[in-house]
Amino acid sequence: MDIKAILLQRSEGCCELCGADNGLEVYQIEPVELAVSECQIIACQTCYDQIDKKAPLDEEHWKCLIQCSRSDYTSVQVVSWRQLQRLSHLDWAKEVLKYLKFDEVTHEWALAGL
Ligand SMILES: [Zn+2]
Repeated sequence: MDIKAILLQRSEGCCELCGADNGLEVYQIEPVELAVSECQIIACQTCYDQIDKKAPLDEEHWKCLIQCSRSDYTSVQVVSWRQLQRLSHLDWAKEVLKYLKFDEVTHEWALAGL
């Protein structure tokens, strides 16, 4: 199985951030050399474009981070953390960030992608 098929299986065919089930692509979490876990997640086009800063941040859309920051997968947590940093002026995002703690190497990876 290729990486997309593996990720789609673990995500049950949904975006690992917002749960959408269309326009799913593999998102590569940079920098790969600092990765402490698998460095791909499945993301929908809406999430993808906003992570990549090709589209403006839709604050309402990212309320999905409240859920997905609790993912079992470090890769999903790292992407969540980075998006939360961009939203950290919002009270709910600040709250979520308080509970999203990483060990040192994971924190380094997360930080390097900001
Ligand atoms: Zn999504």
